[in-house]
Amino acid sequence: MEIPAFDADRPPRADLLADCVHCGFCLTTCPTYVLWGAEADSPRGRIHLMDQGAGGEPLSPSMVEHFDRCLGCMACVTACPSGVRYDTLIEDTRAQVERRHPRSARERALRAAIFALFPYPRRLRLLRGPLWAYQASGLAALLARSGLRERLGPTLATLESLTPRLRRVPPPPRRVPARGSRRAVVAMITGCVQSAFFPQVNAATVRVLAAEGCDVIIPPAQGCCGALSTHNGRRDEARRFARAIIDAFQPLDVDAIVINAAGCGSTLKEYGELLAGDPAYAQRAAALAGKVRDLSELLAELGPVAPRHPLPVSMAYHDACHLAHAQGVRAQPRALLAGIPGLELREIADPEICCGSAGVWNLLHPEPAAELGDRKAAGVLATGADLLVTANPGCLMQVAAAARRRGVPLACAHTAQVLDASIRGLPAETLTELPVSPTAG
Ligand code: SF4
Ligand code: SF4
Repeated sequence: MEIPAFDADRPPRADLLADCVHCGFCLTTCPTYVLWGAEADSPRGRIHLMDQGAGGEPLSPSMVEHFDRCLGCMACVTACPSGVRYDTLIEDTRAQVERRHPRSARERALRAAIFALFPYPRRLRLLRGPLWAYQASGLAALLARSGLRERLGPTLATLESLTPRLRRVPPPPRRVPARGSRRAVVAMITGCVQSAFFPQVNAATVRVLAAEGCDVIIPPAQGCCGALSTHNGRRDEARRFARAIIDAFQPLDVDAIVINAAGCGSTLKEYGELLAGDPAYAQRAAALAGKVRDLSELLAELGPVAPRHPLPVSMAYHDACHLAHAQGVRAQPRALLAGIPGLELREIADPEICCGSAGVWNLLHPEPAAELGDRKAAGVLATGADLLVTANPGCLMQVAAAARRRGVPLACAHTAQVLDASIRGLPAETLTELPVSPTAG
Protein backbone atom coordinates (compact mmCIF):
# COMPACT_ATOMS: atom_id res chain seq x y z
CA MET A 1 0.00 0.00 0.00
CA GLU A 2 1.24 3.47 -0.89
CA ILE A 3 2.01 5.81 1.98
CA PRO A 4 0.09 9.11 1.72
CA ALA A 5 2.20 12.25 1.24
CA PHE A 6 1.29 13.90 4.53
CA ASP A 7 0.90 12.69 8.10
CA ALA A 8 -1.43 14.16 10.74
CA ASP A 9 1.16 16.61 12.14
CA ARG A 10 0.03 19.85 10.46
CA PRO A 11 -0.55 18.79 6.85
CA PRO A 12 -1.49 21.60 4.42
CA ARG A 13 -4.99 22.56 5.61
CA ALA A 14 -7.94 21.49 3.46
CA ASP A 15 -9.82 24.78 4.02
CA LEU A 16 -6.80 26.83 2.88
CA LEU A 17 -6.32 24.60 -0.17
CA ALA A 18 -9.98 25.06 -1.05
CA ASP A 19 -9.58 28.86 -1.10
CA CYS A 20 -7.70 28.64 -4.40
CA VAL A 21 -10.16 29.19 -7.25
CA HIS A 22 -7.49 28.46 -9.89
CA CYS A 23 -7.86 31.91 -11.47
CA GLY A 24 -4.15 32.15 -12.35
CA PHE A 25 -3.73 35.79 -11.31
CA CYS A 26 -0.62 34.73 -9.37
CA LEU A 27 1.17 33.07 -12.27
CA THR A 28 3.06 36.01 -13.75
CA THR A 29 4.44 37.07 -10.36
CA CYS A 30 5.91 33.63 -9.65
CA PRO A 31 9.63 33.54 -10.49
CA THR A 32 9.71 29.82 -11.25
CA TYR A 33 6.69 30.10 -13.57
CA VAL A 34 8.39 33.07 -15.24
CA LEU A 35 11.54 30.97 -15.71
CA TRP A 36 10.04 27.70 -16.89
CA GLY A 37 6.40 28.35 -17.79
CA ALA A 38 5.34 25.01 -16.26
CA GLU A 39 2.06 24.77 -14.37
CA ALA A 40 3.61 22.52 -11.69
CA ASP A 41 6.14 25.27 -10.98
CA SER A 42 3.46 27.89 -10.39
CA PRO A 43 1.63 28.67 -7.13
CA ARG A 44 -1.58 27.22 -8.56
CA GLY A 45 0.23 24.06 -9.68
CA ARG A 46 1.89 23.60 -6.30
CA ILE A 47 -1.44 24.04 -4.53
CA HIS A 48 -2.86 21.36 -6.84
CA LEU A 49 0.02 19.02 -5.88
CA MET A 50 -0.61 19.73 -2.19
CA ASP A 51 -4.26 18.91 -2.78
CA GLN A 52 -3.29 15.59 -4.38
CA GLY A 53 -1.04 14.83 -1.40
CA ALA A 54 -3.80 15.75 1.05
CA GLY A 55 -6.09 13.38 -0.89
CA GLY A 56 -3.77 10.45 -0.17
CA GLU A 57 -1.34 10.49 -3.12
CA PRO A 58 2.23 9.52 -2.13
CA LEU A 59 4.99 12.11 -1.88
CA SER A 60 6.67 11.45 -5.21
CA PRO A 61 10.17 12.74 -6.03
CA SER A 62 8.66 14.96 -8.72
CA MET A 63 6.17 16.46 -6.25
CA VAL A 64 9.05 17.18 -3.86
CA GLU A 65 11.05 18.75 -6.67
CA HIS A 66 8.24 21.23 -7.44
CA PHE A 67 7.85 22.10 -3.74
CA ASP A 68 11.64 22.47 -3.36
CA ARG A 69 11.79 24.78 -6.36
CA CYS A 70 9.44 27.28 -4.69
CA LEU A 71 11.51 30.23 -3.48
CA GLY A 72 9.04 31.07 -0.72
CA CYS A 73 9.07 34.64 -2.03
CA MET A 74 5.32 35.12 -1.32
CA ALA A 75 4.76 37.21 -4.44
CA CYS A 76 1.77 34.92 -5.05
CA VAL A 77 0.28 35.88 -1.67
CA THR A 78 0.39 39.56 -2.67
CA ALA A 79 -1.07 38.82 -6.11
CA CYS A 80 -3.90 36.52 -5.05
CA PRO A 81 -7.32 38.23 -5.07
CA SER A 82 -8.84 35.35 -3.07
CA GLY A 83 -6.50 35.73 -0.11
CA VAL A 84 -5.04 32.24 -0.43
CA ARG A 85 -2.57 31.66 2.43
CA TYR A 86 0.12 30.09 0.29
CA ASP A 87 2.69 31.09 2.95
CA THR A 88 1.07 28.81 5.54
CA LEU A 89 0.46 26.07 2.97
CA ILE A 90 4.07 25.88 1.75
CA GLU A 91 5.52 26.07 5.27
CA ASP A 92 3.35 23.16 6.39
CA THR A 93 4.22 21.26 3.22
CA ARG A 94 7.95 21.84 3.58
CA ALA A 95 7.91 20.58 7.17
CA GLN A 96 6.20 17.39 5.96
CA VAL A 97 8.74 16.99 3.14
CA GLU A 98 11.67 17.41 5.52
CA ARG A 99 10.29 14.77 7.88
CA ARG A 100 9.01 12.26 5.37
CA HIS A 101 11.02 12.47 2.16
CA PRO A 102 14.34 10.57 2.03
CA ARG A 103 16.81 12.88 0.32
CA SER A 104 19.89 11.67 -1.55
CA ALA A 105 23.23 11.50 0.33
CA ARG A 106 24.50 14.52 -1.66
CA GLU A 107 21.44 16.62 -0.82
CA ARG A 108 21.62 15.61 2.84
CA ALA A 109 25.30 16.56 3.02
CA LEU A 110 24.70 19.93 1.33
CA ARG A 111 21.80 20.81 3.61
CA ALA A 112 23.69 19.62 6.70
CA ALA A 113 26.65 21.87 5.77
CA ILE A 114 24.42 24.89 5.12
CA PHE A 115 22.47 24.50 8.35
CA ALA A 116 25.60 23.84 10.40
CA LEU A 117 26.96 27.21 9.31
CA PHE A 118 24.46 29.93 8.40
CA PRO A 119 22.22 30.04 11.48
CA TYR A 120 25.25 30.41 13.75
CA PRO A 121 26.56 33.99 13.88
CA ARG A 122 29.64 32.96 15.88
CA ARG A 123 30.64 30.36 13.30
CA LEU A 124 30.07 32.86 10.50
CA ARG A 125 32.18 35.43 12.34
CA LEU A 126 34.98 32.87 12.72
CA LEU A 127 34.98 32.57 8.94
CA ARG A 128 35.66 36.29 8.54
CA GLY A 129 39.42 35.99 9.26
CA PRO A 130 40.21 33.31 6.66
CA LEU A 131 37.81 34.94 4.15
CA TRP A 132 39.40 38.35 4.64
CA ALA A 133 42.89 36.85 4.13
CA TYR A 134 41.64 35.09 1.00
CA GLN A 135 40.20 38.33 -0.41
CA ALA A 136 43.24 40.44 0.57
CA SER A 137 45.67 37.97 -1.01
CA GLY A 138 44.13 38.49 -4.46
CA LEU A 139 43.33 34.78 -4.67
CA ALA A 140 39.62 35.56 -5.10
CA ALA A 141 40.20 37.68 -8.19
CA LEU A 142 42.67 35.13 -9.56
CA LEU A 143 40.18 32.31 -9.09
CA ALA A 144 37.46 34.30 -10.89
CA ARG A 145 39.74 35.19 -13.81
CA SER A 146 41.15 31.69 -14.22
CA GLY A 147 37.74 30.07 -14.62
CA LEU A 148 38.65 27.69 -11.79
CA ARG A 149 35.77 29.03 -9.72
CA GLU A 150 33.21 27.43 -11.99
CA ARG A 151 34.97 24.09 -11.52
CA LEU A 152 34.39 24.22 -7.76
CA GLY A 153 30.84 23.03 -8.39
CA PRO A 154 27.81 25.29 -8.72
CA THR A 155 27.07 25.67 -5.00
CA LEU A 156 30.64 26.47 -3.93
CA ALA A 157 31.11 28.78 -6.91
CA THR A 158 27.88 30.58 -5.97
CA LEU A 159 28.95 30.87 -2.34
CA GLU A 160 32.35 32.24 -3.37
CA SER A 161 30.88 34.74 -5.82
CA LEU A 162 28.31 36.01 -3.29
CA THR A 163 30.76 36.77 -0.49
CA PRO A 164 30.87 40.54 -0.07
CA ARG A 165 34.05 42.52 0.44
CA LEU A 166 34.56 42.25 4.18
CA ARG A 167 35.11 45.37 6.22
CA ARG A 168 36.53 45.73 9.69
CA VAL A 169 33.91 47.37 11.93
CA PRO A 170 34.08 47.28 15.74
CA PRO A 171 31.16 45.38 17.30
CA PRO A 172 28.32 47.64 18.52
CA PRO A 173 28.21 48.48 22.25
CA ARG A 174 25.50 46.91 24.40
CA ARG A 175 23.63 50.16 24.89
CA VAL A 176 23.66 53.36 22.86
CA PRO A 177 21.81 56.37 24.26
CA ALA A 178 19.39 58.47 22.24
CA ARG A 179 20.72 61.75 20.89
CA GLY A 180 18.59 64.61 22.15
CA SER A 181 15.25 63.81 23.76
CA ARG A 182 14.49 60.13 24.12
CA ARG A 183 11.41 59.04 22.17
CA ALA A 184 11.66 55.26 22.49
CA VAL A 185 13.70 52.43 23.95
CA VAL A 186 14.37 49.68 21.44
CA ALA A 187 16.23 46.38 21.38
CA MET A 188 18.06 45.42 18.22
CA ILE A 189 18.45 41.99 16.67
CA THR A 190 21.77 41.97 14.83
CA GLY A 191 21.16 38.94 12.57
CA CYS A 192 23.51 36.14 11.49
CA VAL A 193 24.64 37.11 7.97
CA GLN A 194 24.10 40.80 8.71
CA SER A 195 26.37 40.81 11.77
CA ALA A 196 29.06 38.61 10.19
CA PHE A 197 29.24 40.06 6.68
CA PHE A 198 27.60 43.51 6.95
CA PRO A 199 28.59 44.92 10.36
CA GLN A 200 28.65 48.38 8.72
CA VAL A 201 24.87 48.06 8.15
CA ASN A 202 24.28 47.31 11.83
CA ALA A 203 26.55 50.20 12.84
CA ALA A 204 24.57 52.56 10.56
CA THR A 205 21.28 51.22 11.96
CA VAL A 206 22.34 51.97 15.54
CA ARG A 207 23.46 55.51 14.62
CA VAL A 208 20.20 56.26 12.78
CA LEU A 209 18.08 54.95 15.66
CA ALA A 210 20.04 57.00 18.21
CA ALA A 211 19.83 60.11 15.99
CA GLU A 212 16.06 59.64 15.80
CA GLY A 213 15.77 59.60 19.57
CA CYS A 214 15.98 55.90 20.45
CA ASP A 215 17.93 54.31 23.27
CA VAL A 216 19.26 51.16 21.60
CA ILE A 217 19.89 47.99 23.58
CA ILE A 218 21.89 45.24 21.86
CA PRO A 219 21.86 42.04 23.93
CA PRO A 220 25.23 40.34 23.46
CA ALA A 221 24.09 36.71 23.47
CA GLN A 222 22.02 36.63 20.29
CA GLY A 223 21.56 33.53 18.19
CA CYS A 224 19.70 32.97 14.95
CA CYS A 225 16.02 33.96 14.86
CA GLY A 226 15.21 30.72 13.02
CA ALA A 227 14.29 32.27 9.67
CA LEU A 228 16.37 29.94 7.50
CA SER A 229 15.13 26.90 9.42
CA THR A 230 11.47 27.99 9.24
CA HIS A 231 11.64 28.67 5.52
CA ASN A 232 13.16 25.24 4.88
CA GLY A 233 10.78 23.09 6.87
CA ARG A 234 13.09 22.57 9.86
CA ARG A 235 10.48 23.51 12.42
CA ASP A 236 11.93 21.92 15.55
CA GLU A 237 15.23 23.65 14.92
CA ALA A 238 13.40 26.94 14.25
CA ARG A 239 11.50 26.58 17.54
CA ARG A 240 14.76 26.04 19.44
CA PHE A 241 16.20 29.23 17.94
CA ALA A 242 12.99 31.14 18.63
CA ARG A 243 12.91 30.12 22.30
CA ALA A 244 16.49 31.35 22.76
CA ILE A 245 15.65 34.72 21.15
CA ILE A 246 12.57 35.02 23.38
CA ASP A 247 14.67 34.27 26.47
CA ALA A 248 17.18 36.97 25.45
CA PHE A 249 14.71 39.69 24.39
CA GLN A 250 11.36 39.21 26.03
CA PRO A 251 12.46 40.19 29.58
CA LEU A 252 13.70 43.56 28.25
CA ASP A 253 11.43 46.50 28.95
CA VAL A 254 11.45 48.05 25.48
CA ASP A 255 8.94 49.74 23.17
CA ALA A 256 10.01 47.80 20.09
CA ILE A 257 12.35 45.10 18.84
CA VAL A 258 14.07 46.30 15.69
CA ILE A 259 15.42 44.23 12.84
CA ASN A 260 17.04 45.40 9.61
CA ALA A 261 16.98 42.10 7.68
CA ALA A 262 13.72 41.34 5.87
CA GLY A 263 13.78 37.53 6.12
CA CYS A 264 14.41 37.67 9.87
CA GLY A 265 11.69 40.28 10.41
CA SER A 266 8.99 38.19 8.79
CA THR A 267 9.91 35.14 10.88
CA LEU A 268 10.08 37.11 14.15
CA LYS A 269 6.59 38.47 13.47
CA GLU A 270 5.34 34.88 13.11
CA TYR A 271 6.71 33.59 16.43
CA GLY A 272 3.17 33.42 17.81
CA GLU A 273 2.20 30.80 15.21
CA LEU A 274 5.54 28.97 15.37
CA LEU A 275 5.25 28.40 19.14
CA ALA A 276 1.45 28.26 19.42
CA GLY A 277 1.63 24.64 20.61
CA ASP A 278 4.22 25.29 23.31
CA PRO A 279 2.44 26.14 26.59
CA ALA A 280 5.61 27.58 28.16
CA TYR A 281 6.34 29.94 25.28
CA ALA A 282 3.13 30.58 23.31
CA GLN A 283 2.17 33.80 25.11
CA ARG A 284 5.70 35.11 25.31
CA ALA A 285 6.19 34.38 21.61
CA ALA A 286 3.05 36.30 20.64
CA ALA A 287 4.05 39.21 22.91
CA LEU A 288 7.51 39.42 21.37
CA ALA A 289 6.12 39.17 17.82
CA GLY A 290 3.83 42.11 18.52
CA LYS A 291 6.83 44.32 19.28
CA VAL A 292 8.89 43.45 16.21
CA ARG A 293 9.37 46.25 13.69
CA ASP A 294 11.43 46.49 10.56
CA LEU A 295 13.76 49.49 10.91
CA SER A 296 11.84 51.42 8.23
CA GLU A 297 8.49 50.71 9.92
CA LEU A 298 9.71 52.01 13.26
CA LEU A 299 11.29 55.13 11.76
CA ALA A 300 8.10 55.86 9.80
CA GLU A 301 6.01 55.43 12.97
CA LEU A 302 8.28 57.76 14.95
CA GLY A 303 8.58 60.36 12.19
CA PRO A 304 11.90 62.06 11.47
CA VAL A 305 13.51 64.49 13.91
CA ALA A 306 17.17 64.32 12.86
CA PRO A 307 17.89 66.88 10.13
CA ARG A 308 18.65 65.36 6.72
CA HIS A 309 21.54 66.74 4.69
CA PRO A 310 21.31 66.64 0.90
CA LEU A 311 22.49 63.51 -0.90
CA PRO A 312 22.67 64.22 -4.62
CA VAL A 313 22.44 60.64 -5.82
CA SER A 314 20.02 58.49 -7.81
CA MET A 315 19.05 55.14 -6.38
CA ALA A 316 17.02 52.13 -7.46
CA TYR A 317 15.05 50.68 -4.56
CA HIS A 318 14.62 46.89 -4.61
CA ASP A 319 11.77 45.39 -2.59
CA ALA A 320 13.09 42.43 -0.61
CA CYS A 321 10.38 39.77 -0.88
CA HIS A 322 10.18 39.15 2.85
CA LEU A 323 9.72 42.86 3.45
CA ALA A 324 7.28 43.68 0.64
CA HIS A 325 5.29 40.44 0.25
CA ALA A 326 5.62 38.84 3.68
CA GLN A 327 5.39 42.02 5.81
CA GLY A 328 3.65 44.43 3.43
CA VAL A 329 6.36 47.05 4.03
CA ARG A 330 6.78 48.95 0.76
CA ALA A 331 5.79 52.55 1.40
CA GLN A 332 7.89 53.20 4.53
CA PRO A 333 11.40 52.73 3.06
CA ARG A 334 10.44 54.71 -0.05
CA ALA A 335 9.03 57.55 2.06
CA LEU A 336 12.18 57.63 4.22
CA LEU A 337 14.44 57.75 1.18
CA ALA A 338 12.25 60.32 -0.60
CA GLY A 339 12.56 62.55 2.49
CA ILE A 340 16.29 63.07 1.78
CA PRO A 341 16.90 66.31 -0.15
CA GLY A 342 18.56 65.82 -3.53
CA LEU A 343 17.96 62.07 -3.61
CA GLU A 344 16.26 60.70 -6.71
CA LEU A 345 14.41 57.43 -6.25
CA ARG A 346 13.93 55.18 -9.30
CA GLU A 347 11.72 52.11 -9.61
CA ILE A 348 12.92 48.78 -11.01
CA ALA A 349 10.80 47.00 -13.65
CA ASP A 350 8.88 43.93 -12.41
CA PRO A 351 9.50 44.79 -8.75
CA GLU A 352 7.43 41.84 -7.53
CA ILE A 353 9.76 39.22 -9.03
CA CYS A 354 12.32 37.77 -6.61
CA CYS A 355 16.06 38.32 -7.25
CA GLY A 356 16.68 34.60 -6.65
CA SER A 357 18.42 34.89 -3.30
CA ALA A 358 15.56 33.64 -1.10
CA GLY A 359 17.52 32.64 2.00
CA VAL A 360 19.65 29.69 0.94
CA TRP A 361 17.63 28.91 -2.20
CA ASN A 362 20.49 30.30 -4.30
CA LEU A 363 22.84 27.74 -2.75
CA LEU A 364 20.41 24.85 -3.20
CA HIS A 365 19.44 25.89 -6.76
CA PRO A 366 22.44 27.85 -8.07
CA GLU A 367 21.65 27.88 -11.80
CA PRO A 368 18.07 29.21 -11.76
CA ALA A 369 19.04 31.56 -8.92
CA ALA A 370 21.78 33.02 -11.12
CA GLU A 371 19.25 33.47 -13.94
CA LEU A 372 16.88 35.36 -11.63
CA GLY A 373 19.80 37.40 -10.30
CA ASP A 374 20.81 38.28 -13.86
CA ARG A 375 17.27 39.46 -14.65
CA LYS A 376 17.13 41.60 -11.51
CA ALA A 377 20.59 43.08 -12.15
CA ALA A 378 19.54 43.94 -15.71
CA GLY A 379 16.44 45.70 -14.33
CA VAL A 380 18.52 47.63 -11.79
CA LEU A 381 21.14 48.66 -14.36
CA ALA A 382 18.39 49.75 -16.80
CA THR A 383 17.32 52.42 -14.31
CA GLY A 384 20.74 54.05 -14.71
CA ALA A 385 20.76 54.74 -10.96
CA ASP A 386 24.06 55.33 -9.14
CA LEU A 387 23.17 52.94 -6.35
CA LEU A 388 21.03 49.92 -5.51
CA VAL A 389 19.25 50.16 -2.16
CA THR A 390 17.47 47.32 -0.40
CA ALA A 391 16.85 46.00 3.11
CA ASN A 392 18.10 42.44 3.05
CA PRO A 393 21.69 41.17 3.06
CA GLY A 394 20.85 38.24 0.78
CA CYS A 395 19.42 40.52 -1.93
CA LEU A 396 22.44 42.83 -1.76
CA MET A 397 24.84 39.93 -2.25
CA GLN A 398 22.73 38.30 -4.97
CA VAL A 399 22.23 41.36 -7.18
CA ALA A 400 25.80 42.64 -6.67
CA ALA A 401 27.18 39.23 -7.73
CA ALA A 402 24.91 39.19 -10.81
CA ALA A 403 26.06 42.69 -11.81
CA ARG A 404 29.72 41.63 -11.44
CA ARG A 405 29.03 38.68 -13.74
CA ARG A 406 27.87 41.20 -16.36
CA GLY A 407 31.12 43.08 -15.86
CA VAL A 408 29.31 46.08 -14.35
CA PRO A 409 30.13 46.42 -10.66
CA LEU A 410 27.19 47.90 -8.81
CA ALA A 411 27.29 50.10 -5.73
CA CYS A 412 24.85 48.74 -3.13
CA ALA A 413 23.63 49.98 0.22
CA HIS A 414 21.08 49.18 2.87
CA THR A 415 18.37 51.79 3.57
CA ALA A 416 20.01 52.37 6.98
CA GLN A 417 23.31 53.35 5.36
CA VAL A 418 21.62 55.92 3.11
CA LEU A 419 19.77 57.51 6.03
CA ASP A 420 22.94 57.46 8.11
CA ALA A 421 24.95 59.20 5.36
CA SER A 422 22.30 61.90 5.03
CA ILE A 423 21.95 62.47 8.79
CA ARG A 424 25.74 62.69 9.21
CA GLY A 425 26.15 64.94 6.19
CA LEU A 426 28.51 62.53 4.42
CA PRO A 427 29.18 63.00 0.70
CA ALA A 428 27.23 60.76 -1.70
CA GLU A 429 30.55 59.19 -2.79
CA THR A 430 30.72 57.33 0.53
CA LEU A 431 27.77 55.30 -0.78
CA THR A 432 28.59 55.09 -4.47
CA GLU A 433 32.32 54.35 -4.17
CA LEU A 434 32.72 50.71 -5.03
CA PRO A 435 34.80 48.58 -2.74
CA VAL A 436 37.32 46.62 -4.80
CA SER A 437 35.39 43.51 -5.56
CA PRO A 438 36.88 40.35 -4.08
CA THR A 439 35.83 38.44 -7.14
CA ALA A 440 36.24 41.01 -9.87
CA GLY A 441 37.75 39.80 -13.02
S1 SF4 B 1 -3.43 31.14 -5.55
FE1 SF4 B 1 -4.89 32.83 -5.73
S2 SF4 B 1 -4.28 33.90 -7.60
FE2 SF4 B 1 -3.29 31.89 -7.66
S3 SF4 B 1 -4.71 30.60 -8.81
FE3 SF4 B 1 -5.24 30.34 -6.64
S4 SF4 B 1 -6.84 31.84 -6.23
FE4 SF4 B 1 -5.89 32.44 -8.17
S1 SF4 C 1 6.24 31.67 -3.06
FE1 SF4 C 1 7.19 32.62 -4.88
S2 SF4 C 1 8.18 30.88 -5.95
FE2 SF4 C 1 6.74 30.00 -4.46
S3 SF4 C 1 4.86 29.67 -5.62
FE3 SF4 C 1 4.67 31.70 -4.64
S4 SF4 C 1 5.43 33.16 -6.18
FE4 SF4 C 1 6.12 31.10 -6.82
